[in-house]
Amino acid sequence: MAGPTRIIFLGGLGEVGRNMLALECDGEIVVIDCGLSFPNEEMLGVDLVLPDWSYLRERSDRVRAVILTHGHEDHVGALSWFLRDIDVPVYGTPLTLGIARRRLDEFGVKADLRAIQAPGELEIGRCKFRFIAVSHSIPDALSVAAITPDGTVYYTADFKLDSSPIDGRKTDEAAIRELAEEGIDLLLSDSTNAERPGRTPSERIVGDTLRDIFHRSHGRIIVACFASNLHRVQQVCEVAEELDRKVAFVGRSMVNNVEVGRDLGHLRVRDDSLIEIGDIERYKRDEVVICCTGSQGEPLAALSLIAAGDHKSVSVTAGDTVILSASPIPGNEPAVHRVINGLYKAGADVYHSETSPVHVSGHAASEELAFMIALARPSYFIPVHGEYRQLALHRNLALEEGIPAEKIEIVEDGDVIELKAGKITRGDRVQAGMVLVDGLGVGDVGPIVLRDRRLLAQDGVIMCVVTIDPRNGDILAGPDLITRGFVHEDGSRDLLDEAADLVLDALEDMEGEDITDWSALKKVIRRALGQYVWEQTRRRPMILPVIMEI
Ligand SMILES: [Zn+2]
Ligand SMILES: [Zn+2]
Repeated sequence: MAGPTRIIFLGGLGEVGRNMLALECDGEIVVIDCGLSFPNEEMLGVDLVLPDWSYLRERSDRVRAVILTHGHEDHVGALSWFLRDIDVPVYGTPLTLGIARRRLDEFGVKADLRAIQAPGELEIGRCKFRFIAVSHSIPDALSVAAITPDGTVYYTADFKLDSSPIDGRKTDEAAIRELAEEGIDLLLSDSTNAERPGRTPSERIVGDTLRDIFHRSHGRIIVACFASNLHRVQQVCEVAEELDRKVAFVGRSMVNNVEVGRDLGHLRVRDDSLIEIGDIERYKRDEVVICCTGSQGEPLAALSLIAAGDHKSVSVTAGDTVILSASPIPGNEPAVHRVINGLYKAGADVYHSETSPVHVSGHAASEELAFMIALARPSYFIPVHGEYRQLALHRNLALEEGIPAEKIEIVEDGDVIELKAGKITRGDRVQAGMVLVDGLGVGDVGPIVLRDRRLLAQDGVIMCVVTIDPRNGDILAGPDLITRGFVHEDGSRDLLDEAADLVLDALEDMEGEDITDWSALKKVIRRALGQYVWEQTRRRPMILPVIMEI
């Protein structure tokens, strides 16, 4: 089968998170990234959101591999579910695989993990993948060029152009330039910060801020950040060591990632600088730094528990310092503010991204994005990894860099781009979207269940139980009304009694109708009860008629 090479976008377009794309070359499919996203406030009770990879499942015999660009959840988080569906080798840098392996072990999923490096290459079928280092808010990240018989596609993945990264591993501009000289037909680039002017500051400035704050602090210091941001953790450890403070890590993902990071040499901290969290009481308050999870206000993470005074080993008190070294992901602000309020109430000095430069982004801002386009000099451009507004602004940047409008596409999940002889066209769309995970259920919560959950959450439920003699339709017991989330039963007995009487009247009025026809009965109950409740309360609880026969 000769061409075209197809690029199938399965997640991460028009939304933040759940990144996944597939490259189909000569009938062989390679998946790049396998991320998840977190539910929005309308997805009540949903734990996680996965990409819909039905397209791949239907062709699983042709899927050859997954390549991971870095260890963030929005790029690796769906792997445990994916591999149970489609068991193929997974390629990534050692840190990315180390983080992925922990998650896979937790889920008891066996995987064939294969290490790659940047610079490095890998051949799968007739397609050659070249890996190019990028700097990002997690070490060991890479971008991927797919060099196919139909042309070359370069996917930057998540990147910034930090000129002084903590680990000295910069985005490899020379390698991108070399690839550009060979010719890049299509560039797919990270749009996260397309709305931000200028350049994203270097990670190093966070270290300077931390040093300032640490020097001024005379109590316990608590720093919350993303567990995967080992550059940040490195800087916390360095400043702590300068001040002879011991460091304790709190939070499962923090402890895990620190272990993986130290094993692989991405986190350099002396053994004698580290203490177990259970031992902090043996040290004075000005002798320790606690590095913990919970920078997003997650209710069960360490920082929330500390702020609420519920953590088993860590408390805060007047004179302590707490630094939230992360900015809230959109939607998390109220939870983060709740934690900050709690910390202030406990008497702590609090520093966070809205008041101090205690965080920088891991994504390139518009000047860097323009530079990337100029460096790659692609024939075609597609902005990826962002909401529509970010994709649209990234498109404008490409126009300013001289890419003609007809050579820029904005794509959505499910779109397919075909590359043939260095030219791109749109292919037929494929199935894509969200698969919701709730507990052990994958995909069993859909729009109808969510609608019910919303109704229940808004106005509650009334159950109306009636016991009927099936032979003659006599009402033997009831109607009994049971409610949850509507009114408190004890305080609203009159309302409920009156409602029950009304339902009884309505049922008795069903003369001539077949009272053993349950659907008719249920309709009468719903109508009578719904109308009465609306008149009395202006609420519309869900009404569940339950008919029992004796
Ligand atoms: Zn990332
Ligand atoms: Zn990402």
